[in-house]
Amino acid sequence: MLRWGLIGASTIGREWIVPAIGIQPDSMVAAVASSSPERARRYANELSIPNAFTSVANLLAEPTIDAIYISSTNEWHEPQALAAVAAGKHVLCEKPLALSLDSARRMVAAATSAGVVLGTNHHLRNAATHRKMRELIQTGAIGRPLAARVFHAVYLPPHLQSWRVDRPEAGGGVILDITVHDADTLRFALGDEVAEVTAMAAYQGMGRAGLEDAVMGVIRFRNGVIAQFHDAFTAPHAPTGFEVHGTEGSLFGRDVMTQRPIGTVSMRRHGSEEEVPVDHENLYERSVRCFNAAIRGEGEPAATGEDGVQSLAVALAVREAAETGQTVRIAGE
Ligand code: NDP
Repeated sequence: MLRWGLIGASTIGREWIVPAIGIQPDSMVAAVASSSPERARRYANELSIPNAFTSVANLLAEPTIDAIYISSTNEWHEPQALAAVAAGKHVLCEKPLALSLDSARRMVAAATSAGVVLGTNHHLRNAATHRKMRELIQTGAIGRPLAARVFHAVYLPPHLQSWRVDRPEAGGGVILDITVHDADTLRFALGDEVAEVTAMAAYQGMGRAGLEDAVMGVIRFRNGVIAQFHDAFTAPHAPTGFEVHGTEGSLFGRDVMTQRPIGTVSMRRHGSEEEVPVDHENLYERSVRCFNAAIRGEGEPAATGEDGVQSLAVALAVREAAETGQTVRIAGE
């Protein structure tokens, strides 16, 4: 039985990851660490977690813990991941992996040299819809992909309108929160890396302290595919979607940029559109299942640490493009 420790008494842990770990036949949540003793105790009670710690060091000193899930606010991801890796734990870290590329690369390098598994919790590539779209693209069903469109403008619910909208030092803002997911989903579905980006950010009344709450932009992939994206915290009525348009057909993922295992995929070719069947599965359960398997040496996490580096590189480039009005190239091309 793999024993997980949580760093962060977070909403995402409560809503998705704790149940996803608990439902696996081979894992359980054994402990949680929070900076607040009261929050640690309440969280552990509410979610039936046997141990609560008020210090990350004490959690990491626990020899029976195999894997750590980090869902603190973003400025803590790097130091906590490095400490967990140094303690010999496997780490599934929330996105964005860190606030800078240097930090994210240090995390990957540390995990590699310690011989532990590092994963990034990009949930969307675990969606049956996105996996089906990737498969159809890879098998040539729509010919050569030319363009993609990501519709990921949502309304940030009131209970999450905290550090995301008022703490730049915690990695707030829609770009590090949502665009980073678009980048991963596009990389995953298209099977290519980003060459350059351009973007404009907007300030529509929710973001404070200079944080953007909406952004639109264009990403150019190395293979020439161009992708447009619209991400927001401020759009209560917009549907989400993900489209890929190729020389022989188009794919329409509708209601697919979401945490829930919902949405449809349709393919339009030869003048008609058909829905493609997908077997929905809880995205976070699949993420944990793949991670548990990776710990046992069976494959890789759904999204690796390197995937987290690449999605962060795109998000940081989008932020720079929005700030400067320039097209920003991604290093490594
Ligand atoms: P929360 O705001 O719920 O929790 C983040 C941290 O804030 C907690 O670890 C906790 O710290 C602290 N905290 C919690 N409640 C309170 C409170 N009442 N007062 C003060 N501090 C509090 O964040 P989210 O769960 O929304 O996000 C956490 C991480 O997960 C982020 O990195 C985010 O980007 C990522 N995320 C990923 C998603 C995905 O689908 N992949 C979806 C949502 C978030 P402490 O532990 O010290 O108590």
